[in-house]
Formats: sequence, structure tokens, C-alpha cells
Amino acid sequence: MIEEIGKLKKELERTKYELSILYEISNAMRTTLKLDEILYIILTGVTAHFGLGFNRAALFLVNEKEKIIEGRLGIGPETGEEAGRVWTQIEQEKMNLDDLISVSGFAAESGFNKQICHLKLPLQEKNGGLMAFCVSDGMPLYLTKETLEKYAQDHVVQLLKNEELVIVPLKLKDKVTGLILADNFVTKNPITKENIRMLTMLANQAGLAIENSRLYEKTVIRSHSDYLTGLWNHGYFQLVFQAELEKVKAVRAPLSLLMVDIDDFKVYNDTLGHQLGDDILKELALLIRNQSRRMDYVCRYGGEEFTIILPHTEKKEAFIIAERLRSDIERYSFIKDGVLPNKKLTVSIGIASFPENGESASELISFCDKMLYQAKRKGKNTTCC
Ligand code: GH3
Ligand code: MG
Ligand code: MG
Repeated sequence: MIEEIGKLKKELERTKYELSILYEISNAMRTTLKLDEILYIILTGVTAHFGLGFNRAALFLVNEKEKIIEGRLGIGPETGEEAGRVWTQIEQEKMNLDDLISVSGFAAESGFNKQICHLKLPLQEKNGGLMAFCVSDGMPLYLTKETLEKYAQDHVVQLLKNEELVIVPLKLKDKVTGLILADNFVTKNPITKENIRMLTMLANQAGLAIENSRLYEKTVIRSHSDYLTGLWNHGYFQLVFQAELEKVKAVRAPLSLLMVDIDDFKVYNDTLGHQLGDDILKELALLIRNQSRRMDYVCRYGGEEFTIILPHTEKKEAFIIAERLRSDIERYSFIKDGVLPNKKLTVSIGIASFPENGESASELISFCDKMLYQAKRKGKNTTCC
């Protein structure tokens, strides 16, 4: 009887401990809506000593659009020595879960994280291997040495080089939206049933937190987008221009701004109506976006004016980019643009560059505006800087 009570007491203690861990992690998840931060908190919970205590963990998200499973974050050391160093530091500095979460920087730099972020696995089961299987199966997968040997050719198995691991699905209702993978590759501690149970409970919470944050990010993007063209809107342009300017100032890099205005657009509208005018704006916006680089910000500044922020780009290069865009637009055939005075839809472009044309956002915008005005005075369909 006493033995039985002792056992029950122990079990109760353990449950209490587990609940407190899950409570702490889910509280931490509620402190932010940013996806990257949420993912970091989840994996910190999986790997921290006072969390679930796995040596290493990786998080993957399902990308339905591209039909792939993408590696998003990996936390854990690459070698036993690195593990020893990091764990000693955590112990010596008496870091708790909050402390660990606040130093998210060091995870991004780690070799393990880079390897994970490189992984893009097909969603189809045949080619995607273990991970794709887990997405379609929707159940936690505990893999022992024997099973892993059978999957020796699998991408993930080859990357992890371990004899035991667990994969649990992140779910939203019955749909698998991602996977958490965890192992003990340094300590070789066996993965217990309890470990898997805890990880599954955490994954259920995590699935919800991830979905919330995705919805939030979608809303933010929508509120910063222009309804007609889908480009960044004026408000976001002001925000991001200021921010990009600060960034280049900090590293003493250049930055350029282009202002693009359609020539004689009023004629087009007056002749063919605003609806067709709107269609042209959409088509032009798409053309500009397709011609711009990943790092550039293409915005609708106002009616038929667009701004393009070119970070780390000096005036000479900005001029080449602007001229290429101008001539691409000139060559492109827009619907019924024969009604325009130039018999073609054309644009005029003004350029301002940091640091030579101004220090502040407003100085640069005003200079850019002047250059655009000059291009108009010179007869339009031209670039001035
Ligand atoms: P300029 O060559 O000097 O630029 O002449 P412009 O006629 O293009 O004059 P301006 O740049 O002032 O353009 C204003 C015109 O652009 C007024 C309006 O007909 C048109 N426009 C502005 N916003 C919109 C819009 O959202 N939809 C449509 N269809 N037309 C717009
Ligand atoms: Mg205008
Ligand atoms: Mg115009």
C-alpha cells in the first residue's frame, strides 16, 4: 500500500512538473505574434533543460502552394563539444526559459539551423520520404535504430546521423501544418513515451500559435498593400523608406529612390474611361514588380505614381535600372495606348540618391519629385537624376 502511494505521489509530481513546463512555454508563445519569434519559442521549449530537454530540435512548415515541406528553424549544437560549451554557459549563467528566448540571435547563426533552413522536401510521400509520410499520416513517429536503417537514404536521416529520433505533426484541426523533429544526439538518452507525449501536447499548442501568427501577418501585409495594384501602399512606403534609410546609414551604404509617373495619363482616362485606366495601372504595376529585384520595394505612391526603393544602390546603378525600366515600359504593348500623345504608354522617372541628394527621407523625396518634374519638362519619356 505504502509502495503504491509512493508511486502515485511520484507520478503526481511528474505530471505537475510537466504541466508547469507546458504552461510556461504556452505563456511565452502568447507574448508575440511574429512567426519567427513563435517558432523560436517553440523550439527553445523543446530543447531547454527545464523544458522538454531534447538535445536538438527542428521545425518544418508545410507550404501548400509550392507543395513542399520547408525547414524553418533548427536549434541545437552541431557537435558534442559545442553542446558542452553552450549547456555549461546556460548552467553557469542560470538562464531560465525567458532568458533563452531573449537571446534568439545565436540560433540563426548556428550551422545546424542553416542546414535545416536549406531543406525543402516534396510533399508527395514517395519523394518526400519520412517527413512527407508524417504529414499525410498525422501521427507522431518514433524511429528506432532498426527503422532508421530502413530509411538510411532519407534526407533527414542522412542529415541528423542519429540512431533514434521522434517526429510529431503540428496540427490545425485535422490538417498537418508542420512538423517538429527532435533527438538526443549528444547524450544518447533514450526517447521515452513520456517525452513523446509531452512533445505531442506542446505541438498541439504550437500549431494554434503558428496559425494565429500567420493570420496576423496576413492582416499586416493586407493593411500595407494597395487594393488596386497589390503593391505596397503610400503609408507603408513612408515607413519602410525611413527604416531602410536608417539601415544604410548604419553601414554607410548608398540607397536610391525612383519616382515613376505615367505620361499624359489624364488623356487616356478622359478618352477611354477610368476603368480601362485602372486596368492599365494594374498591368504596369505587375510589369514594374517583375522587373525589380527581390531587395527592392515597389510602392504605389499615389494615383498613377509609383516609387521604388533601391537599398544599397548608388546613383549610377539606379540610373541604369531606371532606364531599363523606362525602355521596357516603352516597348511593352498596353491596351489601346495609341490614344496617347506619344502613341505609346510611357513614363517619366526621377531619381534621388543617399547620401548626395539628402540625409532625410523628406529631403530625398522632395529631390526625387524635382527630378521627375524636370523629366516632364524635358519632354517626358525620360529619366532625370
Ligand atoms: P503628366 O505627363 O504631366 O504626368 O500628365 P498626366 O495627365 O499624367 O497628369 P498627372 O500625372 O497629374 O496625372 C493625373 C491623372 O492620372 C489624373 C487621372 O486621370 C489619372 N489617375 C490618377 N489616379 C488614378 C487612378 O487611380 N485610376 C485611374 N484610372 N486614373 C488615375
Ligand atoms: Mg502624376
Ligand atoms: Mg502623369
